[in-house]
Amino acid sequence: MKRHSHIISVGLMILACLIAAREYYIGYQLQNSLEREVENMSMAENDQSAGINKTSAFAITPSSSSITTANSLFANAQLSAEKQQMLQVGKGDTISSLLANVGISAKEIEYATKALHKTYDVRDLKIGQSILIKYHHNEERNSSSLLELEFKPSLEYQIILNKGENGGFKVIKHTAHLKKVIRKIEGSIKSSFYNALLKQKVPPKIVHEAIKALSYTMNFQHDIKRGDPYELVYEEHHDHEGDVVKTGNLEYIAILAHGRPHKLYRFSPHNSHAGYYTPKGESVVRALLHTPLDPKKMHITSKFGKRKHPILGFTRAHKGVDFGAPRGTVVMAAGSGVVEKAGYNGDFGKYIKIRHTGGYETEYAHLSKISPGIKAGAPVAQGQVIGHVGDTGLARGCHLHYGVLLNKVHINPLTIKQMPTVQLTGKDLEKFHKLKREVDSQLVGLKLNKQFAKSEPVRQTLIG
Ligand SMILES: [Zn+2]
Repeated sequence: MKRHSHIISVGLMILACLIAAREYYIGYQLQNSLEREVENMSMAENDQSAGINKTSAFAITPSSSSITTANSLFANAQLSAEKQQMLQVGKGDTISSLLANVGISAKEIEYATKALHKTYDVRDLKIGQSILIKYHHNEERNSSSLLELEFKPSLEYQIILNKGENGGFKVIKHTAHLKKVIRKIEGSIKSSFYNALLKQKVPPKIVHEAIKALSYTMNFQHDIKRGDPYELVYEEHHDHEGDVVKTGNLEYIAILAHGRPHKLYRFSPHNSHAGYYTPKGESVVRALLHTPLDPKKMHITSKFGKRKHPILGFTRAHKGVDFGAPRGTVVMAAGSGVVEKAGYNGDFGKYIKIRHTGGYETEYAHLSKISPGIKAGAPVAQGQVIGHVGDTGLARGCHLHYGVLLNKVHINPLTIKQMPTVQLTGKDLEKFHKLKREVDSQLVGLKLNKQFAKSEPVRQTLIG
């Protein structure tokens, strides 16, 4: 019995020794590998030292904090501290430059940006963006190792980059749970379309989109009368508390102007930008804008045709339209093309003529200023600012004289019929009709929609 227990106790002693040895071995290994890691880092860090010294050159928000947590697990813990910093992207900063400033090694920066790039294009980084980083800093070796990086590139999502257990980085994209809400607005015009929409708390972005989409095919001064009904549908994105986080797109706009229906749907054709289309799938974009001025800033003071000249007193043909507008109102190129003339032109004062495709030319007169770069031969884009309203030349009051020529003959700018630039076909047209049905199903109950249902069989004429 005694011998037995002796054997057992010897056995236990051996076992205890074995366990102790194993623990020592594991501890030794851990410490060893950690030291190796620190060594590697500091080696990489040495060629980065120039970058580290520049740390003070970038902005850290006043709220930046530095949390130091004692790391009692390892022997050299007192040298290593976990820090966190809120960085702010300044002009010319990149994720790489910001991390280098904190002293992160070039190798880690490379791994981190590579991992990030899978979910976020680091070139999209915006000035002013805040980025929270957590890193290990080794005082003695003046080296840092990145642990975590997080930022919110938009209201909809957050990017979190984490160092995994194997030392590699992984990226998580947290998407905020935004609810898409469809808003339907209807009303009738009292003073102006613009004011009517703003009064109904339609976001300015949507109002501008609506005016821009309709500007190709209608003239807000000429075509709208008091009481004309309109309706529109747009998207809003709400957060979990029901607050509007983001305004989406204008999906649909319709207006019955002088009894003439204008109805447009937003659609993104394959391989092209989103735009507005008539129920037949014709793009609203025309070669020429209906008015080369902001429609809410101008009013027609003189139409095309025979008139008694306000200054000369005798009757002569008015070969354009006069848009009264405050001095300095910007004048846009009605269509893309090439400047034919730009400069002083007798009674026309400061004057610009642009040549477009399809035999069209447009002219702009009595300008107070011609924009820099607008000279003969210069290409212009549709909507580009080319000058400002004034009263140079033979003009009574500030106005823009706007003329349109087709094959060298003046035509009435307010009634020209232009072909749509794009007519959807094939798969795009199919998809468009499907979208149209979806939007239409949301219009049930709107008054104008009922009126449209009645006026629909009448051929839709879009002037312009
Ligand atoms: Zn005129």
